[in-house]
Amino acid sequence: MSTQEDPRHASRADLDDDFVARAVFTEPSAAERTRPFPVLPPPPPRLDVRRRWYRRPVPLVLLVALALALVAAAWRPWDVPTGPPDHLVLIIAVPDGADVHPDFVDAVAHEAELSTLWLETQTGRAVRGDLSSPRVVTLSMTAEELRGGTVRAYERIMADLDLRDDAFGVVVSPLRTETTWSGQQTCGRGGRAGVVLFLGNCNHTPSTTSAWGSPLSRTITHEILHGMGAVADCAPHGTSDGHVDDDRADVMYQGADRVDPATTPLALDAGRDDYYGHNNIGCPDIVQSPLWVD
Ligand SMILES: [Zn+2]
Repeated sequence: MSTQEDPRHASRADLDDDFVARAVFTEPSAAERTRPFPVLPPPPPRLDVRRRWYRRPVPLVLLVALALALVAAAWRPWDVPTGPPDHLVLIIAVPDGADVHPDFVDAVAHEAELSTLWLETQTGRAVRGDLSSPRVVTLSMTAEELRGGTVRAYERIMADLDLRDDAFGVVVSPLRTETTWSGQQTCGRGGRAGVVLFLGNCNHTPSTTSAWGSPLSRTITHEILHGMGAVADCAPHGTSDGHVDDDRADVMYQGADRVDPATTPLALDAGRDDYYGHNNIGCPDIVQSPLWVD
């Protein structure tokens, strides 16, 4: 049966038989078969312009997280006003143009350690802050510029140090501010942010071999206790200028007749009735100072 007679192939009558007849079938030669396929460059990444980056939830979440992390990193907690200082920092303040020997730094660290160890034996508590490695700071003023009153020297040194609000500076300086050797020589000056000890005024010489009760270890202890708030005016044996007068061995006793710690042990609030662990209701007690670890 010819195709023309087959009704299923009726439509093939329209085919161009001539074209089919002249069609040439080709196949690759042996050489062409072994030729490697050309390596095409990878297609360019497809840009999905329909969905912008900000419409994708995952990158948006990551971006917000990054922004929050940057804000957190830029936020410095010490810029926020805080309560009273809660840790001590030991600083050696060197006038501009002067220098300190490494032995001096070690000696000051040793004296401060004697002080904190004694406080620990008296109270069973540690003070907060690392006093074993003092920070050495060169001031912007020379020793000559700082000579004169200790109030002015204290303020200028503390401004130079620019301590954090929560730090109480125990600042030791080889500086001499007094202009004459006659009259009272002011050894140290204290305030809310810290205390500055002018070693040149009181002739304290730090030593790496001193024992507890050495002039500097005693003075550092005395000033740390001032920094904690001792002695309040309401204390029964208070002198209204931050000291006590009931026991010459008390580390907060102020006077030329105070005991020599080499022969008489020093006391922290003798009788425990004035500034540490007393029972005077309504009168401040340094037992509550944040400068204690616990
Ligand atoms: Zn004092």
